[in-house]
Parts: sequence; structure tokens; C-alpha cells
Amino acid sequence: MKLTAKIKLQPSPQQRVALMETLQRVNAACNAASEWAWANKTFGQYKIHHGVYYDLKERFGLSAQAAVRAVAKVADAYKLDKKTVRTFRPLGSIAYDNRILRFNLTKGTVSIWSVEGRLTIPFVCGEYQGNLLAYQKGESDLAYIKGEFYLLPTCDLPDAPLAKPVGVIGVDLGIVNIATDSDGERYSGKRLNSVRHRHRRLRRKLQRKGTKGAKRRLKKLGQKERRFAGHVNHTISKRIAEKAQRTHRAVALEDLQGIRQRVRVRRPQRSTLHSWAFHDFGRKLAYKAQRAGVRVVFVDPRNSSRECPRCGHTERANRPTQSTFQCRVCGFADHADKVAALNLSVRGWAAVSQPYLGEANRAMHGSVPESPLL
Ligand SMILES: [Zn+2]
Repeated sequence: MKLTAKIKLQPSPQQRVALMETLQRVNAACNAASEWAWANKTFGQYKIHHGVYYDLKERFGLSAQAAVRAVAKVADAYKLDKKTVRTFRPLGSIAYDNRILRFNLTKGTVSIWSVEGRLTIPFVCGEYQGNLLAYQKGESDLAYIKGEFYLLPTCDLPDAPLAKPVGVIGVDLGIVNIATDSDGERYSGKRLNSVRHRHRRLRRKLQRKGTKGAKRRLKKLGQKERRFAGHVNHTISKRIAEKAQRTHRAVALEDLQGIRQRVRVRRPQRSTLHSWAFHDFGRKLAYKAQRAGVRVVFVDPRNSSRECPRCGHTERANRPTQSTFQCRVCGFADHADKVAALNLSVRGWAAVSQPYLGEANRAMHGSVPESPLL
């Protein structure tokens, strides 16, 4: 699995100047290469390289490999969007590879190319980052963040072996409760929803205003909500992954396609933030689970809120209200979100234990309650 470490450099005052100059020079070179690409409507790395390589080296004092990296950065930027000329901030981060950057883990230093020649700079990092660094592979970004220089090396970790699960935690994602699992545990988004509620009034006011300043504030508000929702997702997905690891179970989530459709159908006006939040949750949980050696399966969510997890009877009327489930055939009743999670759990179990399909699953599966009183 690929992860990015964050290593803080401790340059001398002189080295700081050299790093600053390097960022500026490389980004200026990127801008020059970008203009050339735009003027010639030529966006492939090889062709840009052909057009600007010597110019970049000469005019901006880049080493051969630094020029190659600068061209790659420009070509990457155009891969995303060829509609406008791409520009680069003077102090935007730049990529290094192992030919122009080398870590010395025993000494705690890096040897890094700069426009003033090679620099040997001490670095500091926590234990976790230090452990990651042992798996450093490929590129590292040099970034200037709030007055400090950082290296962000890509690290390629061996995946934790996946434990054989003894059961499956189904996780149903919702709006009132961010998530409900098949044990009946609810992961509330109360604070998240109250933040959104507070913002809703402000948002309407700003939308009515419609001025430039109001639009800017609206955008800021959206970013703030996303950040907060991302944080909530981080906390909840971590708790679920830890629970699954502790209890040696896999996790079943509705597949992301399903989430998108369901949200759109239910609440079209709210879909953007929510579908973003659901995707973000799925990504975070999958990532945390993988690190913990917990298996994640994505299952078909169709009818998961209408099917009875005990007898299998499926009918819309099984769910008389948003929050209640009551089977019209066998009488099994529980909170609707938990029932949906139970169904995901059953489907997940079918997925992790391929040889035992169908009804056998239902009987084998520990967390499906047997009594209608549950
Ligand atoms: Zn039933």
C-alpha cells in the first residue's frame, strides 16, 4: 500500500535560501515549459522534453534530472486539463526522485539537489514517520508549508496479511446517524448535523446576496463543512476498523455505486456533500481496515432496508417509518438502520465464505438474531 510520509527539514539559514531559490527557479521553469506546451499545443512529456530541455537547463540553471522532473510536472498538469494554460505558484512543491534526493537514515540527513549544488540537510520526524521512511520508494515532494520545508516521500508498505474473519460487521451509512453497524451500535453525526444546520441559514443569506464576497464566503463555508465531515469520517471509520480487528470480523459496506444512487434518489438537493461524504467514508474505512488486516467487502445494497434479515421476506411495508422495521410475515422488528446493517452483514458473509451460499449463511451467521424479541 502506498503512503506518504512527512519529514521536516532543518536547513541552516544559508540552506533555506538555497531551497527557496530552488523552488522558485523550478516553478519558473515549469511555467516556461507550460507556456511552450500551450503555444505549441503539445502536451506529452516526451515532446515537451524535446522542446524545452536545453532551454530549462540553461536559462534556469537546472540539473538534467531536475529538468526532467519539471517537464514531468507540466505534462502531469496537462493530463488533468488541457483547456487553459497551466501555471505554477512560485513556491509550489516540486518532485524529487532518487537521483536528486537521497535519505541517510542512520545519520538522519538528506542529500538533496538545489540550484546551489547538493545540500546535506538534517531532518526530524516522529517514530511513525521514521518507520514509514524505511519503505521509501519513488518520488518525494519538496514542499514549503507555513514557513517550513518538508519532504513528502512516497512509501510502499507491504500489506498486512488479511485475517480469516469469524463474522462480518455490516455497516449502514445514513444521514441522521452517520453509520449504524449490525451490532446495533450507532455512530452519530449529531455535531456534524448541527454544524450543517447552523450553516444552512447563513448559506441562504449569502446566496440571496450573490455578491462576489458572498460567493467567496460560500465557497469557504463549503470547504469548512467538507473538512469537518472528513474529520468525523476519520473518527468513525477508525472506530469501526478497530472493532472489526478486535473481534476478528470483516466489514461489509454497500458498494459505492449503490450509495450514490440511493442518496440521489432520496434527497436530490443534498446529494453533493452527502455523496462526497459517503465516498470519503468508504475510502477511509477501506484504507484503515486494510492497514489493520481487516477484510472489507462491498455488497449490493438493493432492498437492504426492506428485507427481513430473519425470514427473508421483502416488502416496502416492512418499513412503516424512516426509523422502524417490522416484518409483515414473521414479526421481526428492530431499528431500521440496524436491520439494513444486518442485511449487509449477511450479504458480506456470503461474499467472504464463498463455498457456503444461500440459506446456510443465515443459520451460520452469528450476528443474525434468532428471536423476534431482539
Ligand atoms: Zn421476517
